[in-house]
Amino acid sequence: PSFTNPRHSAISAIAARHSVSNPGASLKDLRDQQLFGINVFSEDVMKQRLPKNIFETLCETLRQGKELRDPIVADVVASAMKEWAMERGATHFTHWFLPMTGLTAEKHDSFLQPTGDGRVISEFSGKELIRGEPDASSFPSGGLRATFEARGYTYWDATSPAFLVETSNGAILCIPTAFCSWTGEALDKKTPLLRSMEALSTQAVRMLKLFGSPATRVTATAGPEQEYFLVDKSFYYLRPDLVNAGRTLFGAKPPKGQEMEDHYFGSIPDRVLVCMQEIEFELYKLGVPVKTRHNEVAPSQYEIAPVFESANVATDHNMLVMETMKRIADRHGLKLLLHEKPFAGINGSGKHLNWSLSDNLGNNLLKPGDAPHENFQFMVFLAAVLRSVARHGDLLRLSVAFAGNDHRLGANEAPPAIISVFVGDMLQHLIDQIEKGEIKETLRGKVIDLKAPTLPRPEADPGDRNRTSPFAFTGNKFEFRALGSSQSIAGPIVVLNTIVAESLDFLAGRIEAELQNGKDLKSAIMAVLPGVISESKKVIFNGDNYSEAWHKEAVEVRGLPNHKNTVDSLPNLTSPKAVELFTKYHVFTQRELESRREILLENYIKTISIESQITLEMARTIVIPAALRYQTEVAQAIASLKAAGVPIPSTQMQLLEELAGTIGEIQQSAEHLAQAIESNHHGDTLRHAQFMRDQVIPVMNRVRAAGDKLETLVADDLWPLPTYQEMLFLK
Ligand code: ADP
Ligand code: MG
Repeated sequence: PSFTNPRHSAISAIAARHSVSNPGASLKDLRDQQLFGINVFSEDVMKQRLPKNIFETLCETLRQGKELRDPIVADVVASAMKEWAMERGATHFTHWFLPMTGLTAEKHDSFLQPTGDGRVISEFSGKELIRGEPDASSFPSGGLRATFEARGYTYWDATSPAFLVETSNGAILCIPTAFCSWTGEALDKKTPLLRSMEALSTQAVRMLKLFGSPATRVTATAGPEQEYFLVDKSFYYLRPDLVNAGRTLFGAKPPKGQEMEDHYFGSIPDRVLVCMQEIEFELYKLGVPVKTRHNEVAPSQYEIAPVFESANVATDHNMLVMETMKRIADRHGLKLLLHEKPFAGINGSGKHLNWSLSDNLGNNLLKPGDAPHENFQFMVFLAAVLRSVARHGDLLRLSVAFAGNDHRLGANEAPPAIISVFVGDMLQHLIDQIEKGEIKETLRGKVIDLKAPTLPRPEADPGDRNRTSPFAFTGNKFEFRALGSSQSIAGPIVVLNTIVAESLDFLAGRIEAELQNGKDLKSAIMAVLPGVISESKKVIFNGDNYSEAWHKEAVEVRGLPNHKNTVDSLPNLTSPKAVELFTKYHVFTQRELESRREILLENYIKTISIESQITLEMARTIVIPAALRYQTEVAQAIASLKAAGVPIPSTQMQLLEELAGTIGEIQQSAEHLAQAIESNHHGDTLRHAQFMRDQVIPVMNRVRAAGDKLETLVADDLWPLPTYQEMLFLK
């Protein structure tokens, strides 16, 4: 029987591919025709299209962070939105929301309404804009919504602009919404995010008042740096693991991995560059301010980063970035992988969440300024962040806990699971002075002489960058680096906003009390900060976060938590400390926390369950059959030597034995895996998750180890799965 190796066909197809030229306009057109944000119902568009009084009412409501109650305003806005969308080719609208799946959801409704006499008219009312009722009974609710009360509502979030998604045949108007049960419990990621932004604003404004600031709102800002892989579609479809689990469940390490470090910041292959350009073009039209692109550490790994925005808009935009990238890559014959660890042994993908606070006068509250030692306002906000991480590092940890990220955290390519803060030399110097209660000076960097007179003479950054810290101060913002590439940034932002709100609340309360005792502002602050610093400084660590010594010190000396995996980390979501925190600031009710813990644990179970089933299926139907074929070939070769009367070299027998032995290993492990998958678990969700972690994953790893060994033994022309070498280096 003739066997055409599908891998070889894929390789021929790739070799014959040309880069797809950009079917839309080029970035140059975009610049020339001012297409940025052309698909966004922005403030600017509203200003042009809404009657002045309506526009002003709307802006005022948004500025104050209030809800839009006036039905007339809503009707006028809806009608303008519809006109605008239809002019740009839209036929349908959708309430766009962020369910607990971590993805986005939409249900399209046509603008058309039958009139009863055989005609249709286009309609879109204020009511439809403000509230929707998707049939949402199959979204995860973690018990918040029993089926008999399956109703969920979506509510317009006017703080994130509506946008158009273009298809090859028209466009869809997407309206960002929050998704809640009919009893008002949050079923999504946006509702808690908006609540946490409110809590943070209230406490930050209260603090700013003490410094005489007229600011009325403070917004959390976010800029996520997004990593991803690109592989050729022809390879992708030959890998059931990539298709179904987003990562390879088999695959021997390539002879050339990332040892050469020749990919990082290297020049971008043409085919990929054209794809990136089209991605950026589409994102610009959606008003997503993407700014940088470059190669990442691993072969075929890349990064895209936007300019920062309000945390709410940044969250929506990051979802659009992930979805748009996937959609466009597809047009270029590429598959975009967002999984945290698509290739074992190769650097994985994360997401760095840059986070800061900005008041409505445009001031970045985490900007130290030229003389940080005189900037008491900065010191107070800095202390609030340090205190919040010292108290709630476990919550930051669990905000990045899920099966995909377990492959990275603590694996010496991503920060460890121990949450600490890097502040750098300059801030360390300042913090030490605050603790002593004597603030004199700011540490300055030295002027660097590059010894090439044509180059500038920079001042050294006081404090180098530390790439190993999970939570680093980087000049005028914090960078939370433990996020996984596929996750929504909403959860980590909710935690950050809430824990910092709590510390601002605490500090403002203490400072206010000192002021009432007759102290002036500086003395009041200095009566409070030294104690807060000495209690919180245990989380500050400026050294190498990958080192063994640090892990020991962190846990044994400093008493910091080290929750090594998702299952260890998630239960803290409903600890008494977490319940007290989140309920106090109205970010989550206890029931909402319990539901989230349940959903997140279930996600973990489902992920491992899918992975284990695909591992089993691939072992049985792809890996073992290929190995058996080769075993037959080798056996036949030996038999023909024997028939010819030639003495059989021991090496050939060894090969046959090694093959037979390894096939035996994978078959046995596969049977264990089948048993593990089928065994019944009567425990609760946590016990089930523990079972997956302790009983299923190790067996899956054994199946894989044997499979990967076979890959190195079996003849290339009989091996059907694209190899790491091929997927990572052929484009
Ligand atoms: P760096 O030099 O530290 O990489 P960049 O200015 O290039 O800093 O920013 C990296 C990321 O941080 C970008 O996505 C950017 O939008 C984001 N960022 C910068 N300033 C802020 C801020 N004040 N708040 C939130 N994110 C920010
Ligand atoms: Mg980065």
